[in-house]
Amino acid sequence: MDTILVVNAGSSSVKFRIYSIENEGMLRQQLKGQIDGIGSRPRLRASGGEGDPLADRAYPIDAVPDLPSAMEIAGAWLRDELCIHPIAVGHRVVHGGPDYDRPIQVDHGVVTRLERFIALAPLHQPHNLAPIRSILANFPALPQVACFDTAFHRTHSAVADHYAIPHGLHAEGVRRYGFHGLSYEYIAKTLPKIAPKIAKERVIVAHLGSGASMCALSGGRSIESTMGFTALDGLPMGTRPGQIDPGVVLYLISEKGMSAANVQNFLYRDCGLKGLSGISNDMRELETSDSFNARLAIDYFVYRIGLNAGMLAAALQGLDAFVFTAGIGENSATIRARVASQLGWLGVSLDQAENARHSRLISGSNSRIPVYIVPTDEELMIAQHTLSLLTKRPTTNARQERAS
Ligand code: ADP
Repeated sequence: MDTILVVNAGSSSVKFRIYSIENEGMLRQQLKGQIDGIGSRPRLRASGGEGDPLADRAYPIDAVPDLPSAMEIAGAWLRDELCIHPIAVGHRVVHGGPDYDRPIQVDHGVVTRLERFIALAPLHQPHNLAPIRSILANFPALPQVACFDTAFHRTHSAVADHYAIPHGLHAEGVRRYGFHGLSYEYIAKTLPKIAPKIAKERVIVAHLGSGASMCALSGGRSIESTMGFTALDGLPMGTRPGQIDPGVVLYLISEKGMSAANVQNFLYRDCGLKGLSGISNDMRELETSDSFNARLAIDYFVYRIGLNAGMLAAALQGLDAFVFTAGIGENSATIRARVASQLGWLGVSLDQAENARHSRLISGSNSRIPVYIVPTDEELMIAQHTLSLLTKRPTTNARQERAS
């Protein structure tokens, strides 16, 4: 049976999934796996479609020093031991820049264009591109598709896309992009099956995971996001601060003598729930802690979600539904209840029993606005895009033409 490989590569891990292409182009997840601890304690773990364990192997550091070697090990395991030979590979690529408003089949020219956006996402883009390059080198005939976290937000109006800075910077790419686009696209595609009328209206989606953001959907299209130029802006996250006065960055440089690299590391790794609690970036740990700072971190997280929801409701000029998704949004009844109470002024109230059961619809019958939990599936979105680019003639995209 034909299969598609989905790759999501980060700085020290590569996650992968295999989807089989069933009748009428339906995709079924056949296995998922990852190699983590690249360059430190490399380990391959994988499980089948039913969660059945398939592999758990440790490797010496020098066998897996970097992403290309991890890709080779994962690829050899799939080919030689499982006899899986994917017909295409879909990749998560965080930044598509101003031009790419949809997934694209990659070749060397596209990779070169995507390298221009490394400066816009230095902690993600290089790692996303590494496996693409290594597959291009080793399997040049294997079709590869890049799916961008920014693409779904390219529907924003000019006013939402700008910062109040001189135009030259906007022209060179300093814009409000928005991220988690594959997750929001999946929700926008799923919502019509759950609530067809509401899917056409004004919806706020809260993607609350290690990274966290919210998106304003109008008729299924993104019109505003809490994230901007980078995935640092907006809500506080596991280790990122979210919205912060740029004056704080100037203070770190001028008064603390921090270099650009130190500030970058600080903002991506030492802030957010971890920085504020001083305990952990993991919401589960904070929820069970009775430390004052853990409570403060949760209070701050919930408060900022409420503030940002107000902002997005203003962008939408009203609100018809609210959706929770991702690790915290799908699993933490406590955080959902606290966010809902922040949104009480909008007419939101939860059915606490449905919320505790993690039901699909968790708002009470007296809630003016329905509240849903919709588990996200970014990998499935990537597999679907990859399949549809393979089976359709590629449509010419004026923006892509301009990009070349
Ligand atoms: P990402 O894909 O961005 O790494 P996830 O969407 O998997 O992140 O979310 C990860 C976060 O979800 C974890 O850091 C943890 O804080 C949170 N999480 C997962 N399960 C629960 C739970 N049962 N209760 C509270 N938080 C949870």
